[in-house]
Amino acid sequence: MRHALTAQNLVKIYGSGKMALDHVNLAIAEGDFFALLGPNGAGKSTFIGIVSSLVTKTEGTVHVFGHSIDDEILKAKQLIGIVPQEFNFNIFNRTFDVVVTQAGYYGVPFKQAKASAEDCLQQLGLWEKRFEAVRFLSGGMKRRLMIARALVHQPKLLILDEPTAGVDIELRRSLWVYLEKLNQQGLTILLTTHYLEEVEILCRNVAIIDQGRILVEKPVHSLLADLNGETFILDIDGILTETPTLESFSCRLISPNSIEMDLREGQTVNELFQVLDAAGIRVLSLRNKFNRLEELFIRLTGHSTERNMQKNEEGAE
Ligand code: ADP
Repeated sequence: MRHALTAQNLVKIYGSGKMALDHVNLAIAEGDFFALLGPNGAGKSTFIGIVSSLVTKTEGTVHVFGHSIDDEILKAKQLIGIVPQEFNFNIFNRTFDVVVTQAGYYGVPFKQAKASAEDCLQQLGLWEKRFEAVRFLSGGMKRRLMIARALVHQPKLLILDEPTAGVDIELRRSLWVYLEKLNQQGLTILLTTHYLEEVEILCRNVAIIDQGRILVEKPVHSLLADLNGETFILDIDGILTETPTLESFSCRLISPNSIEMDLREGQTVNELFQVLDAAGIRVLSLRNKFNRLEELFIRLTGHSTERNMQKNEEGAE
């Protein structure tokens, strides 16, 4: 199997002494749609920064399609398209010019740059807007323009740093459609995110990073299979003095009027209610105890991440 990207024992220690990457090993196959998932401060941007040579590594090696970023940086760079998190174009420039100019930075001859820019703008649904100044584009169009610009020199690996952070649901979905299309056409994609939903919908493989360390790297379906089963918190009518014993379900008393119950794979909420009915317990309300991403973290690290993954996973816009 050919690898689009490999990192071996990658370490980054910033001048402040902060170890942002702690011996990271990653291998992304050609054609993959790969997610680097982790909370704020996990080291995702640092990783991307090193791969795209914006950040100098402290130790370790990185290869892009077999080209070392130490010895063959120009070849490696040519193969990568980067979509940063923040808009960073001149808003007074025209859409078409933004893309063509970028091709120039990669040494693409002007005629070819124009043809490639047209192709990219068509792909991203921006061709109609080619003569508009960037400042007149909507937020969604600007995001797509960042992708078009990253693709104009025809890279084989597209890297996106939190492409949908702070983006509304509709726009997020439309970006997913474009990214899926690009991946189906053979482009390898690496994105960083803190949305488990995004990983679930788009990606084939995922690595979870926390505090500079890769906690797990596996196919997304296998990660999700680990998450089967749910825990509910139920507020009940009346007062319980001891934990009720319920057939087939494990139950914990968390206050005199609330209990926690586990629903294993294959069990239904109907069955849970039948058992509660039979025990004479009336339920006023129920809610999921865990956000799945939070639960994943608890399982992987033994502690909850107190940063903002939970908020983001729940879809706060
Ligand atoms: P993420 O992209 O996952 O949010 P980052 O790679 O930005 O994480 O940051 C990883 C860690 O490195 C954080 O603790 C962050 O504060 C620290 N860090 C990032 N950039 C710098 C820098 N230029 N100088 C010092 N520390 C930094």
